[in-house]
Amino acid sequence: MVNTAPAQPTTRPTKRPARPNGQWKVDGTAPLNHNEEFKQESDPLAVRDRIERIYAREGFDSIPGDDLHGRFRWWGLYTQRKPGIDGGRTATLEPHELEDRYFMLRVRIDGGALSTDQLRTIAGISTEFGRGSADITDRQNIQLHWIEVESVPEIWRRLEAVGLSTTEACGDVPRVILGSPVAGVAKDELIDPTPVIDEIQERFIGDPALANLPRKFKSAITGHPSLDVVHEINDVSFVAVDHPEHGIGYDVWVGGALSTTPRLAERLDAFVSAEEAPEVWHGVVRIFRDYGYRRLRNKARLKFLLADWGVEKFRQVLEDEYLGYRLRDGVEPPSPSSLGYDGPGDHVGVHEQHDGRFYVGAAPTVGRVSGETLARLADLAEAHGSRRVRLTPQQKLLVLDVAQDQVESLITGLAELGLKARPSPFRRGTIACTGIEYCKLAIVETKATSAAAITQLEERLGDLGSLKPLSLHVNGCPNSCARIQTADIGLKGQLVLDDDGNQVPGFQVHLGGGLVSPDRDDAGLGRTVRGLKVTADGIADYVERVVRRYDADHDGEESFAE
Ligand code: SF4
Repeated sequence: MVNTAPAQPTTRPTKRPARPNGQWKVDGTAPLNHNEEFKQESDPLAVRDRIERIYAREGFDSIPGDDLHGRFRWWGLYTQRKPGIDGGRTATLEPHELEDRYFMLRVRIDGGALSTDQLRTIAGISTEFGRGSADITDRQNIQLHWIEVESVPEIWRRLEAVGLSTTEACGDVPRVILGSPVAGVAKDELIDPTPVIDEIQERFIGDPALANLPRKFKSAITGHPSLDVVHEINDVSFVAVDHPEHGIGYDVWVGGALSTTPRLAERLDAFVSAEEAPEVWHGVVRIFRDYGYRRLRNKARLKFLLADWGVEKFRQVLEDEYLGYRLRDGVEPPSPSSLGYDGPGDHVGVHEQHDGRFYVGAAPTVGRVSGETLARLADLAEAHGSRRVRLTPQQKLLVLDVAQDQVESLITGLAELGLKARPSPFRRGTIACTGIEYCKLAIVETKATSAAAITQLEERLGDLGSLKPLSLHVNGCPNSCARIQTADIGLKGQLVLDDDGNQVPGFQVHLGGGLVSPDRDDAGLGRTVRGLKVTADGIADYVERVVRRYDADHDGEESFAE
């Protein structure tokens, strides 16, 4: 039989060259999208000068788009959502149609450490310029709302007078450094990370050489064995270890992040001393700056580079091109459960410090406080002999340095401010993102919805006595500002159908994330339960069912996540 098929080419077609990823050291620095353009056009940090000289005098309408929607973020400023626009319109309106003429202002608080003077200053700014608004975020910042551009220079003046700032609180920069809230005070701390945080803050934050990263860069450091800074979901983390040969220092983790494509950080298998940690941090940031992907913003976080390189290559590049020396091999930090830590690592409750005084951790409801609450908290702390407050990555706060005979009086005073040192598991374990009240990306409301669910759960489940801590994280959209994948129950905001087929605010359910439950050895990300959705009004019903089933079935040892 004659073969009539056309002859096959003997050589393969030439492979189309891969599109450049926008890696500066590989592809050059030509910008590949508008974000990269505006960052190169003018140093984003330089917008401060224009805010002070022009926009604060001439008002909102004088601000051009690339400053308003781009560079303002480098100084912690985002326009907030116009009130009254429902979540169904989030995806259909243009960003400028969603935005108000007011700003969210994020105050950067590295390590979550505040003096009572600083707290009082933030409280005053909230009351005077922010309609009393204040939220403690799950990155140890405080966010204010309703800020007008005319007020911003005076706000900076007041913040900077007490050693606070909004520098690089948002934007494609090294964001606030998460630090153990009990740094320098806990009896059971391995090492105080404060000097490392301070050195990074002083040397590198606001450095123009690090002010144009591919995207945000998140850092965390802890010296506490409860691993209290969610180190697995940061771009770089330093976790204290007691190395059998080198003594106490830090184990380095890289490449964690959540959002819509979550990835847990990996160990570099490298041990660094406290003295080395800032340089290693600086090396990792510069790898991100030089090799990070810049073409697509949804592929620009460090986790994507790490996924392609792997940790061995990452460590090699860090050593060869940035440090100029070999790192020592590390040891893995022990799991908190193996050391007897069975709580959520939030430091809520009463704990003795290494100096014999006490710190008291208290839970505001989903991080929502107010200028008035913060001012009264500063007064209350001082009346009980304390001048130091700390914020936690679980939207909680601590009052440090309290004498034993002052503890109960402080707890009573905190409760009067709505800050519970002995909260229910629901008030303790629930965190919520900003949501539709102020966020332009939100689809549903989060803070008030969560607060209502907490109240209902406390009423309904008071009969169960002592329950294990339960983490319930509530997001207003598919982004993961409230870390839904790390919670026992994570709720991702979306519109859902109610029993009558009407579209209403609700949530997709994720179950079984374990980072904030150190009683699990195997940290993992929660999984979406296919088809499992709850309406906003149905959260308490759903959580009640889960908790009652757990209470009936569990053996007393397992966490909710298990
Ligand atoms: Fe806004 Fe979504 Fe982040 Fe919530 S998770 S603060 S709604 S972007």
